[in-house]
Amino acid sequence: MLKVKEEKRFLTCGCCGNSYSGVIPKENGIQSYDNGVGMCPACGGDPKAKSYKKKIGWGACAFYEARFDIVRDALSKESKAKFEGLSYQKKVFVIQRMLAKGIIKW
Ligand SMILES: [Zn+2]
Repeated sequence: MLKVKEEKRFLTCGCCGNSYSGVIPKENGIQSYDNGVGMCPACGGDPKAKSYKKKIGWGACAFYEARFDIVRDALSKESKAKFEGLSYQKKVFVIQRMLAKGIIKW
């Protein structure tokens, strides 16, 4: 199979504005949020990172953490305690399921 050489270049993160060395996504096209400049690993996530938060990136963490509070405030005392006991990754999963089911909005 022919391997296409990906060209690394200096890009500007569409989220934080910092410069980083990366590859512009070609196969999937350029996503609407990035204005053709992409997201740095800190904001957009680094698949090679060991910690879950670094894997999903700052942008996703900010998105989910904002919804943690909304969900927590709407729960009963019992459910609130259960939600608080979940790991960060499981809380993100709960938010993802609620978004997919339309229980909370994007
Ligand atoms: Zn960034």
